[in-house]
Amino acid sequence: MELTVKDIQAWLNDYTKLIEENKDELSLLDTPIGDGDHGNNMARGVGAYQEAFAKQLPATISDTFKTLSMAMISKVGGASGPLYGTAFMNMTKTTKGMETIDSIESLTEIVKQGLAGIQMRGKAEPGDKTMVDVWSAVVTALENNQLNEEKIMAAKEATKDLVAKKGRASYLGERAIGHIDPGAASSALLFACLLNYL
Ligand code: ADP
Ligand code: MG
Ligand code: MG
Repeated sequence: MELTVKDIQAWLNDYTKLIEENKDELSLLDTPIGDGDHGNNMARGVGAYQEAFAKQLPATISDTFKTLSMAMISKVGGASGPLYGTAFMNMTKTTKGMETIDSIESLTEIVKQGLAGIQMRGKAEPGDKTMVDVWSAVVTALENNQLNEEKIMAAKEATKDLVAKKGRASYLGERAIGHIDPGAASSALLFACLLNYL
């Protein structure tokens, strides 16, 4: 397995397109258990990434993650902005000086550091019905070299039966049960489009 800077940029470009295509659906997921803006928040973030990318082509994998991180942190108003922003900032640091990501172990470590950033900022644990549920399932699957679409979608779907312990959905208590977490859904899109490059 080898991911070049072109692969990483193609992956994040695919992600941008998927977010735009699923914008309304992500906001709909955020309507019963949040404030209905998750798709719009994410679309604003990836739009800012595309703008920054067009202005200055990132030369390295690390710079590519940094461009996305800065866009998410500076342009997204919601909780998801700093959370994704911190994930991608940790991935920026972990890939510093890396010309390619040349093994599954290396990719695992990068995603693991991304997850650590989300948890440092948001203090959520797996099972709290947040994006952490998908990121942690992806890390586990990568550790076993068994990442596939089914595992990603199962992690997203599993948030449906949970009570939320963090974020706006946590104010709803039991009433959050029966609804998929929107941040878990946008994270599932991120890793689903990574599969095409593995
Ligand atoms: P906001 O709730 O500020 O409107 P968004 O709607 O864009 O922000 O994002 C909501 C998503 O952010 C949730 O679905 C959840 O996945 C994620 N989230 C919220 N708080 C946390 C947290 N403390 N840790 C991890 N993820 C969180
Ligand atoms: Mg919201
Ligand atoms: Mg909001």
